[in-house]
Amino acid sequence: MEFPKENFSEWYNEVVEAAGLVDKRYPVKGMHVWRPYGWKIMQNIDNFFREIFTRYGHDEVNFPLLIPETEFQKEAEHIRGFEDEVFWVTHGGLDELDVKLILRPTSETAMYPMFSLWIRSHADLPLKIFQIVNIFRYETKQTRTFIRMREVHFFEAHTAHRTYEEAEEQIKEDIEIWKQIAKKLALPYRIVKKADWDKFPGAVYSLGVETIMPSGRTLQIATFHQYGQNFSKPYEIKYLKEDGEHEYAHQTTFGMSERLLGAIVGIHGDDRGLIIPPEIAPIQVVIVPIVGSKKEEVLEESRRIRDELLREGIRVHLDDRDNYTPGYKFYDWELRGVPLRLEIGPRDMEKNQVVLVRRDTREKIPAKREEYVARIKELLGEIQENLYARAEEEMAKKIKEVSSIDDIGDVQGVAAVPWCGSEECGHEIEDRTEKKIIGVPVDVKKKGRCVICGKETDTVAFVAKPY
Ligand code: ZN
Repeated sequence: MEFPKENFSEWYNEVVEAAGLVDKRYPVKGMHVWRPYGWKIMQNIDNFFREIFTRYGHDEVNFPLLIPETEFQKEAEHIRGFEDEVFWVTHGGLDELDVKLILRPTSETAMYPMFSLWIRSHADLPLKIFQIVNIFRYETKQTRTFIRMREVHFFEAHTAHRTYEEAEEQIKEDIEIWKQIAKKLALPYRIVKKADWDKFPGAVYSLGVETIMPSGRTLQIATFHQYGQNFSKPYEIKYLKEDGEHEYAHQTTFGMSERLLGAIVGIHGDDRGLIIPPEIAPIQVVIVPIVGSKKEEVLEESRRIRDELLREGIRVHLDDRDNYTPGYKFYDWELRGVPLRLEIGPRDMEKNQVVLVRRDTREKIPAKREEYVARIKELLGEIQENLYARAEEEMAKKIKEVSSIDDIGDVQGVAAVPWCGSEECGHEIEDRTEKKIIGVPVDVKKKGRCVICGKETDTVAFVAKPY
């Protein structure tokens, strides 16, 4: 099987199954089975989340999946945002439930009634928690593995603070955390402020982390929301200040999902399949013995190498399957995106060397037996950096400055467009281009004239087709 990446959508749909990430044959629309290889990658990502959020003072929790309708309906905008996409539980056995339950589409309305019990005084703040759970959304559009699903593997951090300013500081910290996640996953991105009509239901404002897929469509891979007191008021999350007065808490959230894996698949993959960044690869090095006429000796040497690498903390797999040729194994591990292949045969043993092959550049690098461990560590670092650098370069090429509404249609990616910021002009941009304003990049200011009304502005809108 070949994987031409030119037709991105078809390539993506095939590669996620062929590489062993998921099985899409599960008989519920938008719910795919995670297979061991895909789940290991996701777990490596989750474990990094646990490590980094703990380092920044968050605690992990786990809330129930079911939320009573009565709690769900306390924040008006929030309900309106989600009412047409929640799954309902209406019966227990044969009995109709007095209070209907929903499967969480996100956990604000599950958590905040508890926050109001937990938070009493200023000494209880800040409260910083996160959970890694599945959420459910009744998607009616076409579903796509990792990108648009009805059951979503989800990360959500929720915080509560004394003041709006402290909540703002939290969002700055979130961005700092995100930068380290982006590096770990080798994902390029831009941070945008969402248009007011597009923010999270109930938020004061929302920031989106956007990346661009090879199709030119944007993918939102993380969000930060400032809630101010919009949830703390209806949910009665109050604390006693030092001066004896009661005050409502200020809240934020940070959300991410399995979309991150979708972005890794799409952005790093090539015609041969996936390329998994070494930092999160379940297998960083695969050993493929080329036994020739010296089967026992080569296998014994391969096992020795595997053990040496294991002791060095490198995630290594020895492919000693009897019934496949080395050529088939090369193909198989390239498809799965293992960053480095180690070949060893009788001739290499004579020369006291191994041959290393990079998945990203396909370069073949002989390494002496005495120094091959150090070389592998170096190469894994180089591959990680190369993946990030070349993905960032690709992304930068897909963002084009445009000064006329008529030129937006031609952009395969993101059009950076002068916009006065008004809702009318925003909607007109969207209607006339059949694209969306995905947001205003937070660190870009550029003088220009709004492409609709001609007013002078230094605001730039990113206009694109999002997933
Ligand atoms: Zn305008």
